Amino acid sequence: MKWKKPLLSLKPYQPGRTIDEVKKQFGLEKIVKLASNENPFGCSPKAAAAIRDYSPLLSLYPDGYATKLREAVSEHLKVRPEQLIFGDGSDELIQIISRALLHSGTNTVMASGTFSQYKHNAVIEGSEIREIPLMNGAHDLPSMLNAIDEKTSVVWLCSPNNPTGVYIKREDIYAFLSKVPKDVLIVLDEAYYEYVHAEDYYDALSLVEEYQNLIVLRTFSKVYGLASLRVGYGIANEDIIKVLDPARPPFNVNALAQAAAIEAIQDQAFVDECRAANQEGLKQFYQFCEDQQLKYFPSQGNFVLIDFECDGNEVFQFLMERGYIIRSGVPLGFPTFVRVTVGSTEQNEGVISKMKEFLEVKATLS
Ligand SMILES: *Cc1c(COP(=O)(O)O)cnc(C)c1O
Repeated sequence: MKWKKPLLSLKPYQPGRTIDEVKKQFGLEKIVKLASNENPFGCSPKAAAAIRDYSPLLSLYPDGYATKLREAVSEHLKVRPEQLIFGDGSDELIQIISRALLHSGTNTVMASGTFSQYKHNAVIEGSEIREIPLMNGAHDLPSMLNAIDEKTSVVWLCSPNNPTGVYIKREDIYAFLSKVPKDVLIVLDEAYYEYVHAEDYYDALSLVEEYQNLIVLRTFSKVYGLASLRVGYGIANEDIIKVLDPARPPFNVNALAQAAAIEAIQDQAFVDECRAANQEGLKQFYQFCEDQQLKYFPSQGNFVLIDFECDGNEVFQFLMERGYIIRSGVPLGFPTFVRVTVGSTEQNEGVISKMKEFLEVKATLS
């Protein structure tokens, strides 16, 4: 077969262990999964109801233009409907953007220690990848700027960054955007936007107005709690959307996803509750880290990256055997860390008590 060569070097995405697998393997009754930054409170009850009501229409194709969802998002964000593109999760938008702009004659600039899908898609398209290490968990924007040349097609920014939770400050992003050449597309992935509470966070929608080469990605998978339905969206100026849209499969966002997302975005009370609960949850983890003198990155997302100063896989394994699934930092580029999703108060207490147990066992062994 005449495969694209880079594809042969890739492995399929390694999803976290499923709850059922872990239950069976360790003979556990209850498993708490804090591994994929899912919303511990589920989704808006209105979104769930929309799906129940949808079942008589399953034989019909979805609206390929997502007209009603487009209206709902455009109204909520106060952007024009033509400024939006919808994806089968923002993962698919990353794929569409890569397909539209990257090939073997190009290079693409991103952080190392960020969301894996930017690199994954760039590899498949055969683009040269320029990875700039994070500095203290943050994008090193001056070095990223230096890495851009006439062959650069796309620059990827993730803010708040997964897996560190660190965000880009307002003045830093303005300084960066004003210097990036106008023919380079900047992708600003804001999957955790709704959780942000920093005072000096920028307003991405004003950035879109000001910079014609910027697309902002958001998702219904995180705070909206609809990860299983797969729906994300991009916001940019009309000219970008017009060119990108033909690279999108015609019925990419399924009808259930559209129906649920319309209700979800209109239930901002649910989002506010989740954001507030997340803030409290973050404090539980910070307190634990400070008590145990563990380093962590203060987070603007619904997860915390904690340095246990040992093999992250070991912490992961210890917690899994005791009913808590988190992410080891090893595959994320932080080998002595683990990333834990902020759960409910009770879930946080539970995982923290097992983390304490881990530290005690480790202390007695050394
Ligand atoms: C979870 C996540 C996504 C993927 O979101 P989907 O809309 O579920 O595809 C994209 N970017 C980042 C940084 C994420 O953490």
